[in-house]
Amino acid sequence: MTEAKLTWIEEEVTALQDSGLFINLRIIDSPPGAWMIVDGKKVLNLCTNNYLGLAEDSRLVEAAKKALDHFGAGPTAVRSIAGTLSLHRELERKVAEFKKVEDALYVQGGFVANQAALPPLVGREDVIFSDRLNHASIIDGARLSRAKIIVYEHCDTTDLNAKVQEHLPQYRRGLVVTDGVFSMDGDVAPLDKIYEVAEKYGLLTMVDDAHGEGVLGHGGRGIVDHFGLHGKFDVEVGTFSKAFGVVGGVIAGKKLIVDYLRQKARPFLFSSAVTPPDTAACLAAVEILSESTVLVDRLWKNTDYFKGKMQQLGFDVGKSVTPITPVMLGDVKLAKEFSRRLFDEDIFAMALGFPTVPQGLARIRVMVSAALSQSDLDFGLEKFEKVGRALGVLA
Ligand SMILES: *Cc1c(COP(=O)(O)O)cnc(C)c1O
Repeated sequence: MTEAKLTWIEEEVTALQDSGLFINLRIIDSPPGAWMIVDGKKVLNLCTNNYLGLAEDSRLVEAAKKALDHFGAGPTAVRSIAGTLSLHRELERKVAEFKKVEDALYVQGGFVANQAALPPLVGREDVIFSDRLNHASIIDGARLSRAKIIVYEHCDTTDLNAKVQEHLPQYRRGLVVTDGVFSMDGDVAPLDKIYEVAEKYGLLTMVDDAHGEGVLGHGGRGIVDHFGLHGKFDVEVGTFSKAFGVVGGVIAGKKLIVDYLRQKARPFLFSSAVTPPDTAACLAAVEILSESTVLVDRLWKNTDYFKGKMQQLGFDVGKSVTPITPVMLGDVKLAKEFSRRLFDEDIFAMALGFPTVPQGLARIRVMVSAALSQSDLDFGLEKFEKVGRALGVLA
């Protein structure tokens, strides 16, 4: 018998199950390469954020092993007390150089990076202008700051301008924050236009480039590079858990700000530093991308090929301009059935429904990767066509 004080949790879980929103975990037993073992089955990986195939790259794995031997398993201290390894500083310098910014701060994750960056920059007397579709970690970081949050319509700088004009005078200072690439649709924030508005009103500027790093810009230098806005954005948040293939977050930008965050960012001050093997693997990833654009070039070639063929087949791949390829299906039950049948055909691609995406806009999200060979891509396309016809999505 469940204790009386806990029965509400049972009801919540039942409600999730009844509405089809309950999350069942897939269990992985391999690296997230082109093919991976999911729930004991070998499937084509169209699902992870391993854009460049770096997660299983031997150079990262070797670097991690060496660091493990040299530094041990964990730093056992927060960065500000005894947890700052030479590796951390080397990574911060390398990633700053890669992104052409003055300095960078390495934290435990991209989610944490937003919680680390926002509260020191704005507080109760301030206002944050936030894109309607910003990532949960930006929303949480913004809430944690206690600043007033004004949401502007997705990628709509006319609305942003109007809202800044209306609200900014009531506050001490303002900050505008946006995802660089929006992970559900694969569209890109109009960073140049956002910068124009910010300049006009003297707003602090922040972009979360989690899906842009290693993808957009020259050799994967990110969205700021893509728009040629070097030195113009105050804060670039990013992650090492996607294209870089490891784990950890980064806050990059002007030295004044990064130095200040080292004094104030709470996850930096109160949560232990990232482990040596993780840090060394991140460093190896940045070195690889600093030296060559081969992987990023292959990612885009694969993306153009896959998207083009999907469109020829008659699929609606939405408005993506990045390797994120949403296959729009509308109904959430259809999307889930599509994903289940793909899995039967050895394809791993997830269905996304409400509340991750709006009601009626359910989809399969394909993540294209440089790790996929030509025959992998063709295999994926063949199976999409087969399931699409079987379910009446294609004529
Ligand atoms: C994935 C993602 C994060 C979280 O990054 P982690 O390193 O996985 O914590 C943060 N922001 C955005 C925009 C993301 O897409």
